[in-house]
Amino acid sequence: MLDVRIDLHTHSSVSDGTDDPAALVRAAADAGLDVVALTDHDTTAGWRAAAEALPPGLTLVPGAELSCESVDDEGRRVSVHLLAYLFDPTAPELVAEQERLRIERRGRLRAIAVRMAEDGLPVDPDDLLAGLPADTAAGRPHLARALVRAGLVHSVQEAFDRYLANGRDYYMAKADTPVEAAIDLITAAGGATVLAHPFADTRGPTITEETVAVLARRGLSGLEIDHPDHDPAARARLAALAEDLDLVRTGSSDYHGANKSATPGQETTDPAQFAALVERASANAGGAGPTTRPVGGAWGAWEEAGTGS
Ligand code: AMP
Ligand code: ZN
Ligand code: FE
Ligand code: FE
Repeated sequence: MLDVRIDLHTHSSVSDGTDDPAALVRAAADAGLDVVALTDHDTTAGWRAAAEALPPGLTLVPGAELSCESVDDEGRRVSVHLLAYLFDPTAPELVAEQERLRIERRGRLRAIAVRMAEDGLPVDPDDLLAGLPADTAAGRPHLARALVRAGLVHSVQEAFDRYLANGRDYYMAKADTPVEAAIDLITAAGGATVLAHPFADTRGPTITEETVAVLARRGLSGLEIDHPDHDPAARARLAALAEDLDLVRTGSSDYHGANKSATPGQETTDPAQFAALVERASANAGGAGPTTRPVGGAWGAWEEAGTGS
């Protein structure tokens, strides 16, 4: 598995990426990846289309990025994104929570759009929501793109910087899942969990090292260390933390198609760390392999060889 290129964090148009799931797996193959995880926000609706369109040689790791929250020492809410892999997508409590979050997301995006329209900005809340199917996880990038189309801003990033980022006038939080509860849900569904971009501080307050330690005891499997929004100092602190807490270390692009500048495979995960992640999911599933298997590519051969070795 020496030259295996692995990217464990990407978004399709089923959440706030711009490639549909089939285009996303093609982009991953074109970028020379061997393994790609599809991790749309709060939905698994893209898994099937991605698996059906999988180019030869590419392995798909089914996943999701769950919108979670934590509370810091001063009682402030901290937004936490939790990557979840290889879990049972039909686990009833998890399905219910993801559906709740998608409804929450629609209501929150509409509320932001209504406030903007009331202030005379060129947004039509009904049009915006009508363009988003019910199983899509509606997010601020959808509104940002509408603002670009309306000519108010030149880019998605400018829409965030002027209007939508945490701390700007139109930012609204949503009622996310307490991160401990999300780890419990995924563990019970036989999957593995990784904290996404834990020290990316441009989006708002971040989780502390003490809280990461609490989550590790709770069953957290890993930390996303190599991420475009982590500077070298953040990566070094996270690597030390992973070592201390015996957590798997991942690296990923957080590709969002045209909504962000990251390209597939811009950051990658070491194959031994990926094998360790699959092993954690297997352990949570009771030992006989992960609940949901990676699909296609070289996966079958790796499994025969034993991914944990
Ligand atoms: P939401 O799920 O609606 O809270 O939006 C989250 C999405 O917006 C993620 O894809 C983030 O990468 C993106 N995002 C959040 N904050 C910013 C920011 N300050 N600049 C650009 N994109 C952002
Ligand atoms: Zn996103
Ligand atoms: Fe995220
Ligand atoms: Fe993401």
